[in-house]
Amino acid sequence: MYPVSTLDVPLSLRLPKKITKVLHNADIVTVGDLLMVAPRRYYHWGRLTPLSSLREGEDVTILAEVAGAHLVANRSGSGVRLEVSLTDGVQYLSATFFAKSQFKLAPIERLLVPGQSFLFAGKVGAYRGKLQLTHPSFEGVDGEDIERIASRPIPIYPVTGTLTSWAIARAVGMVLDHLDDSDVPDTVPAVIRERQRIGTYAQCLRRLHRPESDEDYQQARRALAFTEAFVLQVGLAAQRRGVRSIPALASPADVPLVDRFIQGLPFTLTDTQRGAVDQIGADLAGEVPMQRLLQGDVGSGKTVVALIAFLQVVAAGHQGAFVAPTEVLAEQHTASLRALLAPLGDDAPDVRLLTGSTTPAARREIAQAMATSAPLIVVGTHALFQESVRFADLALVVVDEQHRFGVEQRASLRGAREDGRGVHELVMTATPIPRTIAMTVFGDLDDTRMGGMPAGRTPVATYLADAANAAWVERTWARAAEEIVQGRRVYVVCPRIDASDEVADAEEEGARPLASVEQVAAYLRSHPALAGVAIHELTGRTPSALKVQIMEDFSAGRAPLLVATTVIEVGVDVSEATLMVILDAQQFGLAQLHQLRGRVGRSSLPSLCIAMHRHELTDAGRARLQAFASTTDGFELAEADLRLRKEGDVLGAGQSGTATHLRFLSVRRDEALIRAAKDEAEALLAEDPTLRSHPDLARTLRQASDGQLEWMQRS
Ligand code: ADP
Ligand code: MG
Repeated sequence: MYPVSTLDVPLSLRLPKKITKVLHNADIVTVGDLLMVAPRRYYHWGRLTPLSSLREGEDVTILAEVAGAHLVANRSGSGVRLEVSLTDGVQYLSATFFAKSQFKLAPIERLLVPGQSFLFAGKVGAYRGKLQLTHPSFEGVDGEDIERIASRPIPIYPVTGTLTSWAIARAVGMVLDHLDDSDVPDTVPAVIRERQRIGTYAQCLRRLHRPESDEDYQQARRALAFTEAFVLQVGLAAQRRGVRSIPALASPADVPLVDRFIQGLPFTLTDTQRGAVDQIGADLAGEVPMQRLLQGDVGSGKTVVALIAFLQVVAAGHQGAFVAPTEVLAEQHTASLRALLAPLGDDAPDVRLLTGSTTPAARREIAQAMATSAPLIVVGTHALFQESVRFADLALVVVDEQHRFGVEQRASLRGAREDGRGVHELVMTATPIPRTIAMTVFGDLDDTRMGGMPAGRTPVATYLADAANAAWVERTWARAAEEIVQGRRVYVVCPRIDASDEVADAEEEGARPLASVEQVAAYLRSHPALAGVAIHELTGRTPSALKVQIMEDFSAGRAPLLVATTVIEVGVDVSEATLMVILDAQQFGLAQLHQLRGRVGRSSLPSLCIAMHRHELTDAGRARLQAFASTTDGFELAEADLRLRKEGDVLGAGQSGTATHLRFLSVRRDEALIRAAKDEAEALLAEDPTLRSHPDLARTLRQASDGQLEWMQRS
């Protein structure tokens, strides 16, 4: 196939075979691939240091002439080095380059011709009492304005395969020398580039790799980040438009059944619940398929909002499907929906549970009901939609607690209708997502946020406790005993199951071993303050039948203290639980800590969370714990988490290391950029839905759809 764009030209046509091969192994195949290798950082030539004043350990930039260069075999017998003698006419200094074979050094040797002058930069080291530079960066200066060269930032590339930064810089240079800017396609249309003040793609690439100033590469990075965000947002917007073009079933809002249900509830809806109900209700009343993300903290009451939506649909004679992440949660949902619906008596719609454990007979019967367009709500796991079961009259799918539920999985839910008609979708998450992530990962969804909590809940008081402070530790167990005496329950969470359980220690190496369920339970059983208290252990290794028994004992108060791993993180609901002790809390992520804390404070009883941490903390660990203690607002914590995490960890490991992940866009820093890209993308598609007048963009999207958009669907 003849390349369509100059960026698609294989590197083998531009670079020596050897380099091409190494790059190929790193998945860098085309000119475009190579030019997208972003410099890790930029080096600045320093003020020129005279050779006479060099001192060991200093970073220096010198201007020197090559006096001579010769290859020397290393004494050890492995490898060679190139010894280059540099001079300013008076003093001499040696620069040394090491390599496995002399071939690696040949390009350097060829450049560093005696008699020529270069700028060299690096750290001054000493070898056998003589000062030297090891692997300095260098740049030829013959005839050029030295000050100008010295003011240019030098890109430092990530080491790729066996290629050094320097080798990559040279390869990039060769490719750029041959690049015809007028042949480089622009993914972002000119009007948008102008509005967003970004250069052409070719300009950006040149500024990135050959900046004249810091501003050059900063602008380039911003423009490339915008380009990534823009392609992503056009993809999402196109997806959204596609979905919205297939009408779903309309169910009128404000129906008596819903009113009666709301009036019959044992509580009044909070304002934010009302707001969500109204928004969703309006969506369901129309034929344009709803695509909405409902975010609310753990316990904020999302289930009842979903149920009201189901009622609206059922009242119009249609069907609904409720997708839970696990069978256990599907069962819990079924029970709580039925309980909430009980006051409706005979008018309550059928709620059916369909999971892997449903008997074949029951399964057939439910499938039958689904196929006959009987109004009903089917609760199940995602597996439900991968089977051949089909709804005859599905109007609404609600996906619960699935922030890992991307575009693709949702598409499979839409296929649950026999006739391929549109379906209203509501995705609910209890782990609030920072705005930027919501915009990138769920950019095709409208975002509804339910802040606050139902009345009568007391926020959980959170304390950080240094485990090295014996008084604090003793006070904690005494407090546990006091709670239990008052008939309440206590959780103690540990990062490990037993001594053999290896978990990555997020903090220091060689420190005291992390708390394990087995050891802590044994310790607490022998603790005088807790004498006579029955203590159970719960971990991922506990057999299911025993798990049920343990939770019942805990819930009923027969064993009011539970030592557990994070298995209790989701889904466990014991309203008498008032104390959560997290041991080695530095081990847990912010979202996890918040979820754990959400296990207490589930009634009007005042609750407490004690996050015990090891004495020595990293700065990041300390910042995380302080953020955790400073607020119980999940949205605030989500934003804090985003700030505190490393960029690479934010969107999951899935897309790092692939050729198409986001290289320039930062979901931590680029909120404004993402928002601007989203607006531009939507406006563009409104004007040109098929991208007929933007072939370069259409082409990039097609390429991205098996890379960039795919990771997004999986995240
Ligand atoms: P989540 O948003 O985490 O899914 P749930 O829907 O499970 O939360 O609700 C948690 C608890 O709060 C449930 O027992 C539910 O019945 C109750 N609840 C929901 N809304 C209200 C309200 N407005 N006032 C009081 N309790 C409420
Ligand atoms: Mg829930």
